[in-house]
Amino acid sequence: MKKIYLDNAATTPIRQEVIDEMIVVMQNDYGNPSSTHSFGRSAKTVLETSRKSIAKLLGCNAQEIIFTSNATEATNWILKSAVRDLGVKRIITSKIEHHATLYTVRFLKKQYGIEVDFVNILPNGAIDVSHLVQLLSKDVKTLVTLMHVNNEIGTVLDVDKVGRICQQHHALFHCDTVQSVGKMEFNLHELPVDFIVASAHKFHGPKGAGFAYVKKGIILQPFLYGGEQEKGLRAGTEAVHQVAGLAKAMELSYKDLNSERDYISKLKAYCENQLKVNFPDIKINGIDTFYNILNVLLPFSEEKTAMILFNLDMKGIAVSRGSACQSGSVKPSHVLAEILHDEDLKKPSLRISFSHYNTREDIDALIDGLKGI
Ligand code: PLP
Repeated sequence: MKKIYLDNAATTPIRQEVIDEMIVVMQNDYGNPSSTHSFGRSAKTVLETSRKSIAKLLGCNAQEIIFTSNATEATNWILKSAVRDLGVKRIITSKIEHHATLYTVRFLKKQYGIEVDFVNILPNGAIDVSHLVQLLSKDVKTLVTLMHVNNEIGTVLDVDKVGRICQQHHALFHCDTVQSVGKMEFNLHELPVDFIVASAHKFHGPKGAGFAYVKKGIILQPFLYGGEQEKGLRAGTEAVHQVAGLAKAMELSYKDLNSERDYISKLKAYCENQLKVNFPDIKINGIDTFYNILNVLLPFSEEKTAMILFNLDMKGIAVSRGSACQSGSVKPSHVLAEILHDEDLKKPSLRISFSHYNTREDIDALIDGLKGI
Protein backbone atom coordinates (compact mmCIF):
# COMPACT_ATOMS: atom_id res chain seq x y z
CA MET A 1 0.00 0.00 0.00
CA LYS A 2 1.42 3.42 -0.99
CA LYS A 3 1.39 5.72 1.99
CA ILE A 4 0.29 9.29 1.44
CA TYR A 5 1.46 12.12 3.65
CA LEU A 6 -0.76 15.19 3.62
CA ASP A 7 0.05 16.50 7.09
CA ASN A 8 2.92 18.84 6.28
CA ALA A 9 1.79 21.54 8.72
CA ALA A 10 2.47 19.04 11.53
CA THR A 11 5.92 18.19 10.23
CA THR A 12 7.66 17.58 6.91
CA PRO A 13 9.83 14.83 5.47
CA ILE A 14 13.54 15.71 5.67
CA ARG A 15 15.19 16.45 2.34
CA GLN A 16 17.84 13.89 1.39
CA GLU A 17 20.45 16.66 0.97
CA VAL A 18 19.78 17.71 4.57
CA ILE A 19 20.31 14.17 5.83
CA ASP A 20 23.54 13.94 3.80
CA GLU A 21 24.78 17.21 5.25
CA MET A 22 24.01 16.15 8.80
CA ILE A 23 25.81 12.84 8.33
CA VAL A 24 28.94 14.63 7.08
CA VAL A 25 28.86 16.95 10.10
CA MET A 26 28.33 14.06 12.52
CA GLN A 27 31.24 12.19 10.97
CA ASN A 28 33.69 15.05 10.65
CA ASP A 29 32.74 17.85 12.99
CA TYR A 30 32.13 16.05 16.24
CA GLY A 31 34.25 18.37 18.36
CA ASN A 32 32.66 20.44 21.08
CA PRO A 33 32.28 23.95 19.64
CA SER A 34 33.49 25.37 22.95
CA SER A 35 36.83 23.51 22.71
CA THR A 36 39.76 25.56 21.51
CA HIS A 37 41.53 22.77 19.59
CA SER A 38 41.02 22.17 15.88
CA PHE A 39 38.11 19.73 16.42
CA GLY A 40 36.25 22.31 18.46
CA ARG A 41 37.11 25.08 16.06
CA SER A 42 35.76 23.20 13.08
CA ALA A 43 32.47 22.46 14.91
CA LYS A 44 32.28 26.13 15.88
CA THR A 45 32.78 27.05 12.23
CA VAL A 46 29.82 24.86 11.22
CA LEU A 47 27.69 26.59 13.83
CA GLU A 48 28.66 30.11 12.88
CA THR A 49 28.51 29.48 9.13
CA SER A 50 24.98 28.13 9.64
CA ARG A 51 24.01 31.17 11.66
CA LYS A 52 25.33 33.53 8.98
CA SER A 53 23.58 31.65 6.21
CA ILE A 54 20.22 31.71 8.05
CA ALA A 55 20.63 35.41 8.85
CA LYS A 56 21.41 36.21 5.23
CA LEU A 57 18.31 34.37 4.03
CA LEU A 58 16.11 36.23 6.50
CA GLY A 59 17.74 39.64 6.09
CA CYS A 60 19.05 40.07 9.62
CA ASN A 61 22.38 40.00 11.47
CA ALA A 62 23.88 36.69 12.54
CA GLN A 63 24.00 37.91 16.17
CA GLU A 64 20.22 38.21 16.13
CA ILE A 65 19.75 34.44 15.63
CA ILE A 66 19.81 32.30 18.80
CA PHE A 67 19.60 28.54 18.28
CA THR A 68 17.11 26.62 20.38
CA SER A 69 15.79 23.08 20.25
CA ASN A 70 12.52 24.20 18.64
CA ALA A 71 10.05 27.06 18.34
CA THR A 72 8.20 26.14 21.53
CA GLU A 73 11.39 26.69 23.50
CA ALA A 74 12.08 29.95 21.68
CA THR A 75 8.57 31.26 22.39
CA ASN A 76 8.74 30.20 26.05
CA TRP A 77 12.05 32.00 26.44
CA ILE A 78 10.99 35.21 24.73
CA LEU A 79 7.64 35.60 26.48
CA LYS A 80 8.98 34.67 29.92
CA SER A 81 11.99 36.96 29.63
CA ALA A 82 9.87 39.82 28.30
CA VAL A 83 7.78 39.67 31.48
CA ARG A 84 10.64 39.01 33.92
CA ASP A 85 13.28 41.25 32.42
CA LEU A 86 11.72 43.80 30.06
CA GLY A 87 8.96 45.01 32.34
CA VAL A 88 6.06 43.73 30.23
CA LYS A 89 2.87 44.01 32.29
CA ARG A 90 0.36 43.02 29.65
CA ILE A 91 0.25 40.54 26.76
CA ILE A 92 -2.15 40.90 23.86
CA THR A 93 -2.69 37.67 21.97
CA SER A 94 -5.52 35.78 20.26
CA LYS A 95 -7.47 32.64 21.06
CA ILE A 96 -6.32 30.99 17.84
CA GLU A 97 -2.59 30.97 18.66
CA HIS A 98 -0.62 27.74 18.99
CA HIS A 99 -0.56 26.26 22.49
CA ALA A 100 3.17 27.04 22.68
CA THR A 101 2.06 30.66 22.98
CA LEU A 102 -1.31 30.27 24.73
CA TYR A 103 -0.08 28.04 27.54
CA THR A 104 3.01 30.18 28.12
CA VAL A 105 0.81 33.28 28.38
CA ARG A 106 -1.51 31.44 30.76
CA PHE A 107 1.47 30.50 32.92
CA LEU A 108 2.73 34.10 32.96
CA LYS A 109 -0.68 35.37 34.00
CA LYS A 110 -0.85 32.89 36.87
CA GLN A 111 2.76 33.29 37.98
CA TYR A 112 3.32 37.03 37.51
CA GLY A 113 -0.21 38.41 37.47
CA ILE A 114 0.21 40.02 34.07
CA GLU A 115 -2.85 41.28 32.26
CA VAL A 116 -3.91 39.28 29.20
CA ASP A 117 -6.14 40.65 26.45
CA PHE A 118 -7.43 38.64 23.53
CA VAL A 119 -7.87 40.42 20.25
CA ASN A 120 -11.11 39.57 18.46
CA ILE A 121 -11.16 37.06 15.61
CA LEU A 122 -13.32 37.87 12.60
CA PRO A 123 -15.68 35.13 11.35
CA ASN A 124 -13.29 34.41 8.45
CA GLY A 125 -10.49 33.60 10.88
CA ALA A 126 -8.58 36.87 10.49
CA ILE A 127 -7.41 39.05 13.35
CA ASP A 128 -9.55 42.15 13.98
CA VAL A 129 -6.86 44.78 13.58
CA SER A 130 -9.12 47.66 14.63
CA HIS A 131 -9.74 45.86 17.94
CA LEU A 132 -5.98 45.51 18.35
CA VAL A 133 -5.58 49.27 17.91
CA GLN A 134 -8.31 49.82 20.49
CA LEU A 135 -6.59 47.50 22.99
CA LEU A 136 -3.24 49.20 22.43
CA SER A 137 -4.62 52.60 23.38
CA LYS A 138 -4.23 51.64 27.05
CA ASP A 139 -0.96 52.96 28.45
CA VAL A 140 0.75 49.91 29.94
CA LYS A 141 3.99 48.15 28.90
CA THR A 142 2.67 45.62 26.39
CA LEU A 143 3.88 42.73 24.27
CA VAL A 144 1.73 41.62 21.34
CA THR A 145 2.06 37.99 20.29
CA LEU A 146 0.23 36.99 17.11
CA MET A 147 1.09 34.24 14.69
CA HIS A 148 1.93 34.81 11.04
CA VAL A 149 0.27 31.77 9.43
CA ASN A 150 -2.26 29.87 11.49
CA ASN A 151 -1.21 26.23 11.62
CA GLU A 152 -4.76 24.88 11.57
CA ILE A 153 -6.65 27.04 9.10
CA GLY A 154 -3.81 28.80 7.27
CA THR A 155 -5.05 32.38 7.71
CA VAL A 156 -2.28 34.92 7.22
CA LEU A 157 -1.53 37.95 9.42
CA ASP A 158 -0.39 41.19 7.83
CA VAL A 159 2.81 41.25 9.89
CA ASP A 160 4.00 44.53 8.44
CA LYS A 161 0.78 46.33 9.33
CA VAL A 162 0.50 44.83 12.81
CA GLY A 163 4.20 45.50 13.45
CA ARG A 164 3.82 49.17 12.52
CA ILE A 165 0.79 49.48 14.80
CA CYS A 166 2.81 47.94 17.64
CA GLN A 167 5.67 50.37 17.02
CA GLN A 168 3.29 53.34 17.05
CA HIS A 169 2.05 52.20 20.46
CA HIS A 170 5.52 51.30 21.79
CA ALA A 171 4.53 47.67 22.20
CA LEU A 172 6.91 44.76 21.64
CA PHE A 173 5.86 42.37 18.89
CA HIS A 174 6.53 38.61 18.96
CA CYS A 175 5.38 36.79 15.84
CA ASP A 176 5.15 33.00 15.69
CA THR A 177 6.45 32.40 12.17
CA VAL A 178 6.71 28.62 12.47
CA GLN A 179 4.46 27.97 9.46
CA SER A 180 5.94 30.69 7.25
CA VAL A 181 9.73 30.56 7.70
CA GLY A 182 11.19 28.62 4.78
CA LYS A 183 7.95 29.05 2.84
CA MET A 184 7.97 32.76 2.03
CA GLU A 185 10.44 35.63 1.83
CA PHE A 186 11.48 37.59 4.93
CA ASN A 187 13.45 40.77 5.25
CA LEU A 188 13.87 41.25 8.96
CA HIS A 189 15.88 44.45 8.46
CA GLU A 190 12.65 46.02 7.21
CA LEU A 191 9.92 44.02 8.93
CA PRO A 192 8.74 45.73 12.15
CA VAL A 193 9.01 42.68 14.43
CA ASP A 194 11.03 42.29 17.61
CA PHE A 195 10.99 38.51 17.82
CA ILE A 196 10.24 35.62 15.50
CA VAL A 197 10.61 31.87 16.08
CA ALA A 198 11.06 28.84 13.82
CA SER A 199 11.42 25.04 13.86
CA ALA A 200 13.48 23.29 11.18
CA HIS A 201 11.17 20.29 10.92
CA LYS A 202 8.44 22.45 9.39
CA PHE A 203 10.55 23.10 6.29
CA HIS A 204 12.12 19.71 5.58
CA GLY A 205 14.82 19.98 8.25
CA PRO A 206 15.46 17.90 11.37
CA LYS A 207 13.36 17.85 14.51
CA GLY A 208 15.07 19.24 17.59
CA ALA A 209 16.44 22.35 15.88
CA GLY A 210 14.97 25.83 15.85
CA PHE A 211 15.82 29.42 16.58
CA ALA A 212 14.68 32.71 17.98
CA TYR A 213 15.29 35.98 16.19
CA VAL A 214 15.78 38.72 18.76
CA LYS A 215 16.12 42.20 17.32
CA LYS A 216 19.41 43.92 18.02
CA GLY A 217 19.21 46.11 21.11
CA ILE A 218 16.68 43.96 22.98
CA ILE A 219 18.40 42.39 25.97
CA LEU A 220 16.77 39.15 27.13
CA GLN A 221 18.08 37.13 30.05
CA PRO A 222 19.15 33.46 29.77
CA PHE A 223 16.63 30.71 29.26
CA LEU A 224 19.04 28.05 30.51
CA TYR A 225 21.99 28.72 32.80
CA GLY A 226 25.34 27.01 32.38
CA GLY A 227 28.01 27.55 29.77
CA GLU A 228 28.59 30.45 27.46
CA GLN A 229 26.87 28.88 24.46
CA GLU A 230 24.58 31.15 22.44
CA LYS A 231 26.04 34.20 24.22
CA GLY A 232 25.12 32.55 27.53
CA LEU A 233 21.42 32.89 26.69
CA ARG A 234 20.83 29.23 25.95
CA ALA A 235 23.51 27.24 27.73
CA GLY A 236 24.32 23.65 26.81
CA THR A 237 26.55 22.09 24.16
CA GLU A 238 25.16 22.98 20.79
CA ALA A 239 23.56 20.30 18.55
CA VAL A 240 25.97 21.06 15.72
CA HIS A 241 24.62 18.53 13.21
CA GLN A 242 21.04 19.65 13.88
CA VAL A 243 21.96 23.26 13.32
CA ALA A 244 23.78 22.33 10.11
CA GLY A 245 20.62 20.50 9.01
CA LEU A 246 18.50 23.51 9.90
CA ALA A 247 20.70 25.82 7.80
CA LYS A 248 20.81 23.40 4.87
CA ALA A 249 17.03 22.95 4.92
CA MET A 250 16.55 26.68 4.90
CA GLU A 251 19.01 27.22 2.05
CA LEU A 252 17.23 24.63 -0.06
CA SER A 253 13.79 25.99 0.78
CA TYR A 254 14.77 29.45 -0.39
CA LYS A 255 16.71 28.22 -3.41
CA ASP A 256 13.60 26.62 -4.89
CA LEU A 257 10.99 28.79 -3.19
CA ASN A 258 9.30 30.15 -6.31
CA SER A 259 8.95 26.87 -8.14
CA GLU A 260 7.90 24.89 -5.06
CA ARG A 261 5.40 27.56 -3.98
CA ASP A 262 3.92 27.60 -7.44
CA TYR A 263 3.70 23.80 -7.56
CA ILE A 264 2.12 23.54 -4.10
CA SER A 265 -0.36 26.36 -4.81
CA LYS A 266 -1.58 24.53 -7.91
CA LEU A 267 -1.86 21.30 -5.95
CA LYS A 268 -3.94 23.00 -3.29
CA ALA A 269 -6.21 24.53 -5.95
CA TYR A 270 -6.62 21.08 -7.52
CA CYS A 271 -7.49 19.56 -4.15
CA GLU A 272 -10.01 22.28 -3.36
CA ASN A 273 -11.60 21.86 -6.77
CA GLN A 274 -11.80 18.07 -6.51
CA LEU A 275 -13.34 18.31 -3.06
CA LYS A 276 -15.97 20.75 -4.33
CA VAL A 277 -16.79 18.55 -7.32
CA ASN A 278 -17.15 15.42 -5.23
CA PHE A 279 -18.69 16.97 -2.12
CA PRO A 280 -20.67 20.03 -3.30
CA ASP A 281 -21.67 21.00 0.25
CA ILE A 282 -18.12 21.30 1.48
CA LYS A 283 -17.07 24.54 3.21
CA ILE A 284 -13.59 26.01 3.46
CA ASN A 285 -12.55 27.10 6.96
CA GLY A 286 -10.69 30.41 6.82
CA ILE A 287 -10.27 32.87 3.98
CA ASP A 288 -7.25 33.86 1.83
CA THR A 289 -5.34 31.03 3.39
CA PHE A 290 -1.65 30.15 3.01
CA TYR A 291 -0.66 28.15 -0.04
CA ASN A 292 0.09 24.85 1.70
CA ILE A 293 -2.83 24.60 4.14
CA LEU A 294 -6.43 23.72 3.32
CA ASN A 295 -8.94 23.26 6.13
CA VAL A 296 -12.33 21.95 5.04
CA LEU A 297 -15.62 21.27 6.74
CA LEU A 298 -16.97 18.04 5.31
CA PRO A 299 -20.70 17.57 4.79
CA PHE A 300 -20.63 14.32 6.76
CA SER A 301 -22.78 13.37 9.70
CA GLU A 302 -21.60 13.88 13.26
CA GLU A 303 -21.23 10.12 13.82
CA LYS A 304 -18.56 9.95 11.16
CA THR A 305 -16.40 12.61 12.80
CA ALA A 306 -14.46 10.34 15.10
CA MET A 307 -13.97 7.67 12.44
CA ILE A 308 -12.74 9.76 9.58
CA LEU A 309 -9.02 9.99 10.43
CA PHE A 310 -9.00 6.36 11.43
CA ASN A 311 -10.56 5.31 8.14
CA LEU A 312 -8.13 7.38 6.10
CA ASP A 313 -5.24 6.09 8.18
CA MET A 314 -6.30 2.51 7.42
CA LYS A 315 -5.90 3.46 3.77
CA GLY A 316 -2.43 4.86 4.43
CA ILE A 317 -3.50 8.50 4.13
CA ALA A 318 -2.32 10.99 6.75
CA VAL A 319 -4.22 14.23 7.27
CA SER A 320 -5.11 16.03 10.46
CA ARG A 321 -8.13 17.28 12.33
CA GLY A 322 -6.27 20.25 13.73
CA SER A 323 -2.92 20.72 15.38
CA ALA A 324 -0.85 17.54 15.73
CA CYS A 325 -1.28 17.31 19.49
CA GLN A 326 -5.02 16.94 18.98
CA SER A 327 -4.90 14.34 16.23
CA GLY A 328 -6.95 11.34 17.15
CA SER A 329 -8.84 13.24 19.80
CA VAL A 330 -12.50 14.09 19.28
CA LYS A 331 -12.20 17.34 21.23
CA PRO A 332 -12.88 20.20 18.81
CA SER A 333 -9.88 22.32 17.95
CA HIS A 334 -9.57 25.57 19.91
CA VAL A 335 -9.06 27.38 16.60
CA LEU A 336 -12.18 26.04 14.88
CA ALA A 337 -14.14 26.65 18.09
CA GLU A 338 -13.47 30.38 17.58
CA ILE A 339 -14.76 30.57 14.01
CA LEU A 340 -17.42 27.88 13.59
CA HIS A 341 -20.97 27.67 14.88
CA ASP A 342 -21.67 24.87 17.37
CA GLU A 343 -23.52 22.90 14.73
CA ASP A 344 -20.59 22.97 12.28
CA LEU A 345 -18.13 22.27 15.05
CA LYS A 346 -19.69 18.85 15.55
CA LYS A 347 -19.11 17.97 11.90
CA PRO A 348 -15.74 16.76 10.69
CA SER A 349 -13.19 19.33 9.59
CA LEU A 350 -9.97 18.17 8.00
CA ARG A 351 -6.66 19.95 7.69
CA ILE A 352 -4.90 18.91 4.51
CA SER A 353 -1.39 20.34 4.26
CA PHE A 354 0.90 19.95 1.28
CA SER A 355 4.56 19.92 0.35
CA HIS A 356 6.38 19.73 -2.99
CA TYR A 357 6.66 15.97 -2.46
CA ASN A 358 2.90 15.55 -2.95
CA THR A 359 1.29 14.79 -6.30
CA ARG A 360 -2.17 14.94 -7.89
CA GLU A 361 -2.36 11.18 -7.40
CA ASP A 362 -2.12 11.77 -3.64
CA ILE A 363 -5.11 14.09 -3.85
CA ASP A 364 -7.06 11.60 -5.97
CA ALA A 365 -6.38 8.92 -3.38
CA LEU A 366 -7.60 11.22 -0.61
CA ILE A 367 -10.82 11.94 -2.52
CA ASP A 368 -11.37 8.22 -3.12
CA GLY A 369 -10.70 7.58 0.54
CA LEU A 370 -13.26 10.18 1.58
CA LYS A 371 -15.82 8.86 -0.88
CA GLY A 372 -15.49 5.44 0.72
CA ILE A 373 -16.43 6.69 4.18
N1 PLP B 1 3.72 27.43 16.39
C1 PLP B 1 3.08 26.92 15.33
C2 PLP B 1 2.27 27.83 14.47
C3 PLP B 1 3.18 25.57 15.02
O1 PLP B 1 2.54 25.08 13.96
C4 PLP B 1 3.96 24.74 15.86
C5 PLP B 1 4.01 23.29 15.60
O2 PLP B 1 3.01 22.67 15.32
C6 PLP B 1 4.63 25.33 16.94
C7 PLP B 1 4.48 26.67 17.18
C8 PLP B 1 5.49 24.53 17.83
O3 PLP B 1 6.59 24.01 17.11
P1 PLP B 1 7.55 22.93 17.78
O4 PLP B 1 6.67 21.82 18.25
O5 PLP B 1 8.47 22.52 16.69
O6 PLP B 1 8.23 23.63 18.90
